Amino acid sequence: MVRMGNKSLITRDVGFISCEMGCFFRYFLQLVEKVCGGADLKKHRTGDLKFIQQLNESVVLEVIREKGPISRSKIAKVLEVSPTTVTSAVNLLMAKELVVEDGIGISSGGRKPVLLRFNPTAHSIIGVSVTNTKITIAVLDLHGNIRKREVHPTNYAKGKVMVELLVTKVSQFVQLYEDLPHCQGISVVLPGIIDAQHGTVSYNSKLDLFDVPLAKIIEEQIHLPVFIDNDANALVLSEYYFGSFTHYKNLIYITIDEGIGSGIMINGQIFRGSNGSSGEIGHTSVVPDGMKCECGSRGCLENYVSWPVIYAKIVAAMMANAIQSTMYTMIGGDIRKLTPEVFLKALQEEDPLALRIMQEMVRYLSIALKNYIHLFDPEAIILSGSVVQGNQLLVEQLQQAVKKKVIPNLRSKINIQLTPLGSENRMVGAAAVLFNNKFRFTFAASD
Ligand SMILES: [Zn+2]
Repeated sequence: MVRMGNKSLITRDVGFISCEMGCFFRYFLQLVEKVCGGADLKKHRTGDLKFIQQLNESVVLEVIREKGPISRSKIAKVLEVSPTTVTSAVNLLMAKELVVEDGIGISSGGRKPVLLRFNPTAHSIIGVSVTNTKITIAVLDLHGNIRKREVHPTNYAKGKVMVELLVTKVSQFVQLYEDLPHCQGISVVLPGIIDAQHGTVSYNSKLDLFDVPLAKIIEEQIHLPVFIDNDANALVLSEYYFGSFTHYKNLIYITIDEGIGSGIMINGQIFRGSNGSSGEIGHTSVVPDGMKCECGSRGCLENYVSWPVIYAKIVAAMMANAIQSTMYTMIGGDIRKLTPEVFLKALQEEDPLALRIMQEMVRYLSIALKNYIHLFDPEAIILSGSVVQGNQLLVEQLQQAVKKKVIPNLRSKINIQLTPLGSENRMVGAAAVLFNNKFRFTFAASD
């Protein structure tokens, strides 16, 4: 069947589509025009017409978003469909305020054409990011720009308490939100295994959430459509829609904080696997029979690369007093003040302990990235998280280490980069999840 994101097509609005899907839909539109003819579409069932109408809007909106300001006739040429089809779709998009007229173009002989552009500010999204320590809630426009933002500490709440706290904070935020009619919905991103289709947190051991129907719980309280997704999936979508990787279709996104997670994009679509647990890079093995992991296995990457591991290594070295470190001076000997920012600053100052720990990170991460590259052949691997934010030295060393490990024909194509979206990338990720669900067609194999 055809879906809009994770929900049924018929309940959803117009859609954006990837290049491959765009080619397919363009072909489909041309076929519809040939078989039915514009006016004869009225003979078809209401459901079919609605589907075709949404398809038209989706494809036309995609072209306007990518190529605008653009005239109606140019859109028809790009899509190789009739001007009537384009005009009809544009009228609907303008009625929804998703598209506006913006200036006059150059004439190629006749009357000067009116140009159209995407209008991202007419609608809003409420984005919510949940971590072990804080809940961040923000209003964003359809370009992922933040208009208003709040942060609430969780005091390490878990399980039912955590869910109640989340619902309370989001409810309070929505009650004070003055432009609800233009809000497209709420998007929640958090770590762990997420069943995005059913809006369920399947597994998050750190927050003690197992098979929690989070989207349904929030929807019952707030009466807005709610979407949830894994944070790494959200982050890879944010790069695809709003970051510097909009022209890439095959991406791996790795985030390193309290744990390590990843999102996989294949041909412009999130690859979720059969249980929604794809991309669990933190539990891939990098050391045979290595350290015991909370998942029950041994030698998982998370036990060698995440912030708690780095923290423990720094503290152990300080306690043993084996290495003099600038970090000890920076925190005044108080290990409670030891943060990822201190570690990153020490790296900039070429602190020997910080450099040694980073080299160990590179050693283990490069094994995981080598495996990723050989399995998925991505166009780019994007890194983010408090441990790597702004850490260009790590990227350079990782690039070199991975180059030495991959097969020869891939060595010149290794492309590892830091996220360009900065510290608010989780909020932009939340916006991207809703954007992907409400404004994009996808095909599912079965219902
Ligand atoms: Zn594990």
